[in-house]
Amino acid sequence: MDARIGFMGLGIMGRAMAENILKNGHPLAVYNRTREKTALLADLGATVAATPRELAQASDVVIAMLSGPGAFADVLRGEDGCAAALRPGQVVVNMSTVSPADTREFSSLLVPSGARYVDAPVVGSKKPAEEGKLIILAGGDEAVIAGLEPVLLAMGSKVVRCGPVGSGSMLKMAVNLLLGIVLGGLCESVNFARKGGLDPAMVLEVLGDGPLGCGLFGLKGPMLASGIYQTQFPLKHMAKDLKCVLDTAYDTGAPVPGASTALGLYQAARDLGLEDMDAAAVMKVLETLTGR
Ligand code: NAP
Repeated sequence: MDARIGFMGLGIMGRAMAENILKNGHPLAVYNRTREKTALLADLGATVAATPRELAQASDVVIAMLSGPGAFADVLRGEDGCAAALRPGQVVVNMSTVSPADTREFSSLLVPSGARYVDAPVVGSKKPAEEGKLIILAGGDEAVIAGLEPVLLAMGSKVVRCGPVGSGSMLKMAVNLLLGIVLGGLCESVNFARKGGLDPAMVLEVLGDGPLGCGLFGLKGPMLASGIYQTQFPLKHMAKDLKCVLDTAYDTGAPVPGASTALGLYQAARDLGLEDMDAAAVMKVLETLTGR
């Protein structure tokens, strides 16, 4: 019998990921704090659970794609949380971005239940999530991850087996450390050039065509040129991820001066009320400082 999948968190990423699980023929139950967001998945054939606990009772594999560690702690240990319903043989897969320390704590909380924990954060944003082309960074027991591959590959093009629990989250920290710095740097360069009288579109074209060009510039360049920051990756999550990077660096002793500066920029953007816009809206901090 196919494993019954339970999916929690139908936000920008989770909705698309859950849809791909269904499309690949896996039996699916869903839970979302704001229940209205489950309607689309229900129309496609998913069962809707009223609480995380009910979801865990109805599933063999429980997948979470939530905003961060606080949200995951709520669905695990809050009122009607799934922890009370977990049982031996069940697997909890946390695909949300959290720090390795959070991951290890969540994993240890599952030990008394006999359920197994896998951290599986993703690389890729809204479009790869819709296309089932995420890169999935899995940390945990090799055999457990191997058993999960059919469902993980419904959401992604590749599963990277990173090592023990926490290693998927560690790799995700390394990826988003660079993302935060590069995106902040791109904004700084474009704003600098504009202040010097150049057309941002021309600057972005040259940056994209030259040796620095990368997929990120293609994704965010049009937002910077137009000033329209339609959300793919919410700015509040970029700030949260950089905080997780700094916490992790404190634990490991790694120097992260760039991440520290970048966090300051995204924090300032949150103070300007931009947290729900795309992370590229960090540009507005520089524009504000420029008096634009
Ligand atoms: P999102 O659109 O903000 O969705 C967040 C989800 O978490 C929603 O379903 C929300 O429920 C739920 N949630 C938040 N607080 C909760 C709580 N206390 N209890 C229960 N549920 C709660 O986020 P997203 O963009 O899909 O990102 C999800 C995760 O993936 C984040 O960890 C993010 O860092 C990571 N990520 C995002 C991207 C991206 O490009 N967007 C890419 C890679 C990784 P409601 O609907 O009720 O608010």
